[in-house]
Amino acid sequence: MKRSIRLKMITIFIFLFVVLGTIAIWSITNFTRLGSAIEAIMEANYQSVVSAQSMTLALERQDSAELASMFSPEDSTADIFVYNQNEFLKALSRAEDNITEPEEPAILSSIGELYVDYVNRYYVLSEIRREGTVEEASSYYYKNILPLFEEVKQLTRDLLTVNQEEMLAKRNRALEVARNASFSTAIISSVAILLGVLFSMYLIVKIVRPITLLIEKIKLIAEGDYKQQLPVKGNDEIAELSREFNTMAARLNSYEEMNVHKLMEEKQKAEGIVDSIGDVVLVTDSENRLIVLNRAAEKIFDIRKEEVLRNHFLEIIKNEEIFEQIKKTLGGEKNEEKNFVDVNLEKEGEKKYFRVKSKPIKNEQREIIGVVTLMQDITKLKEVDSMKSEFVSTVSHEFRTPLTSMGMAVNLLLDGTTGDISEEQRELLEALKEDQERLNSLVSDLLDLSRIESGKIQMDIQPNSLDEIVENALRPFPIQLKERGVKLNIDVNKDLPKVKADFNKISWVITNLVGNALRYVPKDGTGKIEISARKTMNKVLVSVSDNGTGIPEDMQEKIFEKFVRANDNQGGTGLGLAISREILLAHGGEIWVSSKQGMGSTFYFTLYFSG
Ligand code: ADP
Repeated sequence: MKRSIRLKMITIFIFLFVVLGTIAIWSITNFTRLGSAIEAIMEANYQSVVSAQSMTLALERQDSAELASMFSPEDSTADIFVYNQNEFLKALSRAEDNITEPEEPAILSSIGELYVDYVNRYYVLSEIRREGTVEEASSYYYKNILPLFEEVKQLTRDLLTVNQEEMLAKRNRALEVARNASFSTAIISSVAILLGVLFSMYLIVKIVRPITLLIEKIKLIAEGDYKQQLPVKGNDEIAELSREFNTMAARLNSYEEMNVHKLMEEKQKAEGIVDSIGDVVLVTDSENRLIVLNRAAEKIFDIRKEEVLRNHFLEIIKNEEIFEQIKKTLGGEKNEEKNFVDVNLEKEGEKKYFRVKSKPIKNEQREIIGVVTLMQDITKLKEVDSMKSEFVSTVSHEFRTPLTSMGMAVNLLLDGTTGDISEEQRELLEALKEDQERLNSLVSDLLDLSRIESGKIQMDIQPNSLDEIVENALRPFPIQLKERGVKLNIDVNKDLPKVKADFNKISWVITNLVGNALRYVPKDGTGKIEISARKTMNKVLVSVSDNGTGIPEDMQEKIFEKFVRANDNQGGTGLGLAISREILLAHGGEIWVSSKQGMGSTFYFTLYFSG
């Protein structure tokens, strides 16, 4: 059977109740005993004492009356005597009704007998007084009455003494009872107090202390320290509680260990995956501290993961360009222009190129809490690209002289300087001239491009009014526009601040964009082209839009590359946009397109304001 705490407590309460009840009954009994002792004194002896005193008083008054009657035999003395005789007898009978002590009956019967004698002798004395002399009366008094008087008086005094002594004895007994009662009450109370203290201590030890311990352990568990156990003693509720607590804590602990194990496994897996990626992977948190990086990153930046994690990005990787990209992504900036930057890094004297892309990490509330940055090594691509450029540049250069002389020769032939030519020969020469011109323009475009790419053409960047640049750029078009019935709308504010631009090169870019637009707008008189410029933060955004054929989505990035053409049937070299992009890059600007097939296209580019 279980010894439950409840049962124990009930037992203790009953026990304490019995103890307190005993104290109460004990005290009541003592008070009753004390009360009856006092009552006994009052009832048993007080009455006798009063009677004895009354008898003595009455006797003395009778004696005085007797003495007085000897010398002046008046009726008043006889009245006094009779009156006091009544008083005496009343007191005597009261004493006889209240016999409490063993000596009392003898004393009272003696008093009764002697008093009868005494009264009789008074009457004898009255006779002598009436018939004899004063001397005879006096001698009778001294001889027969006074001794009797003394004897009765002595007996009444004895009665008094007996009762007084008894009162004293009883008083002492009452005191004894009181003393005993105080003593025993003190002892029983002390026992009760001691039991109370023991009971409280028992409660503390048995209930409060285990509960305090339990609270401490629960707090530790709440803090994540699951290795908590409570001592189990006995078989009561506290023991059961401790046992249940231990089971719960052990289970929590094993869950925790399981979870930690799983998490570690997942972490290692994730780390393994990230490490095996050949591109550089960097993860930063909301405060731009590095939280993950892979082996490729360690190699490129020459850092150790263990030493640099949790440090600010810029402290470890001192590259502003990459950091700018991360900051932009963290700030949630949607980059409609492009989502990467190309950066070059020096690694052991070797130049390396990286394409840096970053993506935000979002939590469940869709808030950005970090950034994943991927750096693709594009050094090889760049090398191939520059080799291609070099080759193209050489070839075009080599083509230029023969092409010029070919042109000159054709012109001379057509002029007839070298003799007459037939109509058939003219047609052939005209076709040759057209092809020579096309080839010539391609070669000069290619040369321009390679010169800009290699930085051989210096930009003459000056503060220029965009309004004037646009005006200059549109100079070649009025006749073509009219012929094709295309509406041109220009929305460039004259008050726009000046831009940092090479006047001729930017004019060229606009001319090229408008020329392209003109090529793709409808030719049935509904064609529309619009040029507009608007101010953003510290840049101007220029756009050239048309309602032409539009550009397929997958081509929109590619058309800025060399020789890429989306619509083949429209002529052109596929270099115009590539040259435009190089020009803008040299200005620190950018160019991109937004288009929907069949709905027209809008080309955008940006330039910095001067000042
Ligand atoms: P091209 O000399 O062929 O015009 P560009 O570099 O200027 O060379 O243009 C590349 C390609 O982009 C074009 O061949 C064409 O397919 C496409 N393109 C350029 N501008 C437009 C436009 N406004 N509308 C539709 N397609 C365009």
